[in-house]
Amino acid sequence: MSLLVQKYGGTSVGTTERIEAVADKVAGFRQQGHDMVIVVSAMSGETNRLIALAKDIQETPDPREMDVLVSTGEQVTIALLCMALKKRGWDARSYTGGQVRILTDDSHTKARIQEIDEANMRADLDAGRVVVVAGFQGVDAQGNITTLGRGGSDTTGVALAAALKADECQIYTDVDGVYTTDPRVVDRARRLEKITFEEMLEMASLGSKVLQIRAVEFAGKYNVPLRVLSSFKEGPGTLITLDEEENTMEQPVVSGIAFNRDEAKITLAGIPDLPGIASKILAPVGEANIEVDVIVQNVGADNTTDLTFTVNRGDMNKTVDVLSAVAKEIGAREVTGDDAIAKVSIVGVGMRSHAGVASTMFSALAAEGINIQMITTSEIKISVIISEKYLELAVRTLHSAFGLDAEPAA
Ligand code: ADP
Ligand code: ASP
Ligand code: MG
Repeated sequence: MSLLVQKYGGTSVGTTERIEAVADKVAGFRQQGHDMVIVVSAMSGETNRLIALAKDIQETPDPREMDVLVSTGEQVTIALLCMALKKRGWDARSYTGGQVRILTDDSHTKARIQEIDEANMRADLDAGRVVVVAGFQGVDAQGNITTLGRGGSDTTGVALAAALKADECQIYTDVDGVYTTDPRVVDRARRLEKITFEEMLEMASLGSKVLQIRAVEFAGKYNVPLRVLSSFKEGPGTLITLDEEENTMEQPVVSGIAFNRDEAKITLAGIPDLPGIASKILAPVGEANIEVDVIVQNVGADNTTDLTFTVNRGDMNKTVDVLSAVAKEIGAREVTGDDAIAKVSIVGVGMRSHAGVASTMFSALAAEGINIQMITTSEIKISVIISEKYLELAVRTLHSAFGLDAEPAA
């Protein structure tokens, strides 16, 4: 008998029929004698619907009120799932984040979990109940409702599993595991049996939204066995493992390809090539709370240079506004923004011990006529910024070039 924390995502609880199907699944595990803690997301589309309602009223609503609003989606699904379990004869009890007491900091809309009180959950488990907890939400020290950022129910699941020392945290979603790339974009993507935490962390931070990045961080930090599985199809899913050695042995150099459409490129052209210029440009951007991702500065010619960097797409106009004044001050020729770009990244711990990965990547893209605008690398990843219109072609091309394609179905 083990203690399992299972998280069911939005699609998995998207209708009352699907909630009943989740109840059947949970009841099956309970029947086998496992202790069950279930985390659910809001019904699919609900969080987006709530955000749109807020935007009808105000472009940037108060973050505290935003959290009061968007946390309601998960309160609906915890209650419905408990009803469905009770209907099947299993005792169950629902908890909001505040009722468990998932204590977070007070950064509304992107709060971090600080502490979890497990007393209520333990008492229920001891009494044979299924515990059902609302994902994505917590409460700060003052009792204000907070939320954990989009996709945050994954983090709730992993954090509860860490707090309860669960035997496994299982993330049930609408795909049957972590794939070499998003299977909705590349139909020859392959499910991975295993992926290392390190690679999963890169994949998540480079745009693969199958797991929220904080969930992966948490699982790595607290050593939580983490598995991604399908709500709709039986199978072993994908295990996220600390076991790097074993993993790299027979693995290809590149394990996966991530991509992100949510970036925009800002260029300051014709800047006087002097010491301190990069900080003059990037400091006000940071002060405006805008996150900068890839940065490239050219070697100067004729005493001027260009600086290009990327930001979240939603921050592009704000960044251009912030920099218009700076550009005048430092004598730059112009500031431009381009939001028709995308970032494509190859990820693999095997890259540490193999040379020539970058040249394979660049020549594969060149062979398709795809121009690389920016490049950034780290030990286990290479990212390129390209025109958004080539994104899918680039992902498919790299998927083949690194030998990741599944055999076509017979
Ligand atoms: P949930 O609502 O269950 O949390 P998400 O939509 O957040 O589900 O995450 C699952 C989705 O992640 C899949 O439908 C898939 O399109 C996408 N995805 C992106 N990259 C990958 C990948 N490498 N492997 C599997 N799924 C991926
Ligand atoms: N409902 C939240 C969202 O859509 C949290 C989650 O589903 O993980 O982002
Ligand atoms: Mg998700």
